[in-house]
Amino acid sequence: MNYARFLTAVSAARKPSPIRILTELQQRSPPSLISLAGGAPNPNTFPFLSASIQVRNGPTVNFDETAMKRALQYSASNGIPELLMWMKDLQKNLHNPPNPQTEMCVTTGSQEGLSKVFDMLVSPGDNVLLDAPTYSGTLAALQPLGCNLINVASDEHGMDPEALRRVLSCWSPSDVHKPNSSVPKVLYTIPNGGNPTGASMTEQRKRDVYQLARQYDMLIIEDDPYYFLQFEKPWAPTFLSMDVDGRVIRTDSFSKILSSGLRLGFVTGPKPLVERVVLHIQASTMHTSSFTQLMVSQLLHSWGEEGFRQHIDGVIEFYRKQKDAMISSAEKWLKDVAEWHAPKAGMFLWIKLKGITDTQQLIREKALEKEVLLVPGGVFMINSSDPCAYVRAAFSLSSPEQIDEAFRRLSLLIKEAQS
Ligand code: PLP
Ligand code: PMP
Repeated sequence: MNYARFLTAVSAARKPSPIRILTELQQRSPPSLISLAGGAPNPNTFPFLSASIQVRNGPTVNFDETAMKRALQYSASNGIPELLMWMKDLQKNLHNPPNPQTEMCVTTGSQEGLSKVFDMLVSPGDNVLLDAPTYSGTLAALQPLGCNLINVASDEHGMDPEALRRVLSCWSPSDVHKPNSSVPKVLYTIPNGGNPTGASMTEQRKRDVYQLARQYDMLIIEDDPYYFLQFEKPWAPTFLSMDVDGRVIRTDSFSKILSSGLRLGFVTGPKPLVERVVLHIQASTMHTSSFTQLMVSQLLHSWGEEGFRQHIDGVIEFYRKQKDAMISSAEKWLKDVAEWHAPKAGMFLWIKLKGITDTQQLIREKALEKEVLLVPGGVFMINSSDPCAYVRAAFSLSSPEQIDEAFRRLSLLIKEAQS
């Protein structure tokens, strides 16, 4: 594939940092080389000496003085090699990407990857396809780029390929490569446990969407931070696993399984595009915290993939129980006043309140009085001022008892608002 037509002017103008090139040259030179070229500070002047981190049911992560110096120093913009290697093995075992040109880089959470991917691909005036309601962080990153967001209808199984076909029928595939063509170049979706809907796409829907992307020569941004929180096995094949052409850019996240505050994610996709993301990283954060990367890398290497999967199984078990508790409380308190679909992945229940046209006012004004807080659905819509009858409830943090009491309060709130 030729990616030139997908890049924004800013992204196309990015050039490698000359200092980074010198650093690589230095790494390939004999030890007798005296380099006065590096711009790194001397870590002997840093106050932190060593660290030891206890791991729940696992091996301690240790930083002796040598390891600590590395952890406190600059590192490669695409990620430290041993973490990147571990992630590449994992990605190969999970998705076996058919495109031989697949590359990866480490990002500071998947949000950094996403926002840099949008910055790379979305120019003012572009038509961008997504299934709203969608993650408010995505809207926050996309909307200021001046693009035109086009909604593709979705249901509890995520984006509907028939709806996508209808949207795309405004254009002809033969218009795609004409100058100034307005055919959308980018499609974004959250394939598992969508935020806020909890929806997960079936394999067949992904295959149908991929075929349409081929027909109209579009890239697919697969934002999958809840991939590891799928309650049912086998996990559905990903867009990445179907990507014979090199048109899928996938963002993964460790936020829901290792730590959200450490800020660790990774981008997987066609090499020429991942390289553009890395050039942007060079010019912005330089790299994800070396300490964070080394700490996680040590744990992953001592766990191995087997240990990692065992950990994931425990996390899934927790969220499945939480989900079950929320669904049974919803059935107990909300049966007559609301509708929902039980999610197959993630942390969210998307609830439609009956007889209420807009939840914004209800939540902003009345919910705090009743001491229950949910996110009004409007914030996930392309036009946040449009009325929305939904609320998002997270089952990640509250105990089953708290969830039950919250839904009791919510049911009172809805009944009062209805009358
Ligand atoms: N994408 C979606 C759909 C999310 O729900 C979130 C977090 O809530 C993110 C991306 C950002 O995740 P990270 O913490 O990896 O930046
Ligand atoms: N500004 C200048 C003038 C610098 O020399 C450097 C580091 N070489 C930076 C910014 C970036 O620093 P930081 O490591 O805090 O991102």
